[in-house]
Amino acid sequence: MYLGSHVSFDSKEQLLKSVKECISYGANTFMFYTGAPQNTLRCNLNDELTNKAYELMKENDIDINKVICHAPYIVNLANDFDPSKYDFSINFLKNEINRLETLGIKYLVLHPGSSVSIERNKALFNIANGINNILYKDCKVMILLETMAGKGTECGISLDEIKYIIDNINLKDNIGVCLDTCHLNDSGVDINNFDYYLDEFDKIIGIDKIKCVHINDSKNIIGSHKDRHENFGFGTIGFDALINVIYNEKLKDVPKILETPYVGEKKEYPPYKFEIEMIKSKKFNPNLINDIINYYK
Ligand code: FE
Ligand code: FE
Ligand code: ZN
Repeated sequence: MYLGSHVSFDSKEQLLKSVKECISYGANTFMFYTGAPQNTLRCNLNDELTNKAYELMKENDIDINKVICHAPYIVNLANDFDPSKYDFSINFLKNEINRLETLGIKYLVLHPGSSVSIERNKALFNIANGINNILYKDCKVMILLETMAGKGTECGISLDEIKYIIDNINLKDNIGVCLDTCHLNDSGVDINNFDYYLDEFDKIIGIDKIKCVHINDSKNIIGSHKDRHENFGFGTIGFDALINVIYNEKLKDVPKILETPYVGEKKEYPPYKFEIEMIKSKKFNPNLINDIINYYK
């Protein structure tokens, strides 16, 4: 099983920092942003730090082929109303793919984008067109379209929309999908019936396209189109349904990444070490939040 969480990456320690944090949670994979998730400021990569990160990964049995990078939220390939912003998103992602090739990371999760003011079909076309501009022959990185909750004008909220985008991408080997359990729930998918969803996914897109799963409970009911993540087992999806996603045989080799919220009064404590323990034991801990706070404070 490949299980991990979102971890940090900073200009000082870079990937080495991410690996250290991953190990501190008892995880064997992780997901990072190459800078802040909310902006596109990025530092120069330091090979020495990258090599130290590789060493530490090797010592701890972390397979770099299962490590995930997430693109910042603010790039938007769906809306081309302002061509300079659309071009900025394309150029940022080109550079991001270069950074990942330098780091040896294979997967880049991307929110497909929000249509905002423009017609939805055009927005879906723009996403595919943008990705066609970013990818190139022999590119070693695969872009993973994340399934979205349908908040605002988000695109990529149904199997048909994801299929349409993939159908219009030229380099099919460089495109895949990242499921997000909170987003799926909020978009109207019943996670209690996850095998039915996987069968539909397989019929429409092909199950081998799933390369990552974001594991989050949801603060809101199915179909709410909200996208507010909750700690594992404490939301409307619930412990058993999420455990069944993680241990699903059909997704055995796919990395599972927690993006659940930090806890404590100031949201200062990461829940991942304790959530990972709970997942490995398959036993719900109703005192999880207090245990986390007591451990870190
Ligand atoms: Fe995401
Ligand atoms: Fe996600
Ligand atoms: Zn989300």
